[in-house]
Amino acid sequence: MEIKPTKFINNMLNTGHTNKFEIPSLCPWCGVSFNPTIDRVATFDESDAHTFVLQMHCNYCGKKSINVVIGKDYSNMVQQMLYPAPKARQFDDLLVNLSPRFISLYQSAERAEQIGDLDLAGMGYRASLEILLKDFALKSTDDSKEKIATFNLGVAINKYFGDNPFGMIPADVVRLDANDFVHWDRPDDFDPVMTLEEMKSYLEIFITVVKTRQMIAHPPVKRYKK
Ligand SMILES: [Zn+2]
Repeated sequence: MEIKPTKFINNMLNTGHTNKFEIPSLCPWCGVSFNPTIDRVATFDESDAHTFVLQMHCNYCGKKSINVVIGKDYSNMVQQMLYPAPKARQFDDLLVNLSPRFISLYQSAERAEQIGDLDLAGMGYRASLEILLKDFALKSTDDSKEKIATFNLGVAINKYFGDNPFGMIPADVVRLDANDFVHWDRPDDFDPVMTLEEMKSYLEIFITVVKTRQMIAHPPVKRYKK
């Protein structure tokens, strides 16, 4: 399942304007999809930017969280702070055991995304894919660490997933989308939010493929235990 950390919603909030602002898509307390009651508890303007302090009341767990959104106009107010900080995504033990560094990199990229550092998030998600793919290669083939280390990501994808389009295509989409977060020359119409969403969707497929391969390699039933 893909986790979208934020979403934009429209709300009047008795300001006389239609405000469009960013809130978390999951309640930071209970993690359930978020459709909170929202109160504006403070507003101030600083250097042309409007700031709202919002109190959100979760309709599921009943707890309150605080969100600070800022924008130059009321129709595009971006989340700057959230209390409490959302919990990091958790992964299946099969993946935790296969690649603890993938997990920590993925969670770092997620934190970067949550505070709006999308370039770093894009680089981080790509790096997490490379670590997962290489840890998978190390544990599931006879290739040595030294040998795997010599392959760049494009070569490694081709070598270990070239015969499996369900692994190869998603890994390649992540690699190529990530180029625009890393490289100096990128298209003028580059849309970081859309590209990051696309990258994450394909990364999710790749994670599922690796997890599936791990499930087949380590079945839980006695019949297949060595
Ligand atoms: Zn809640």
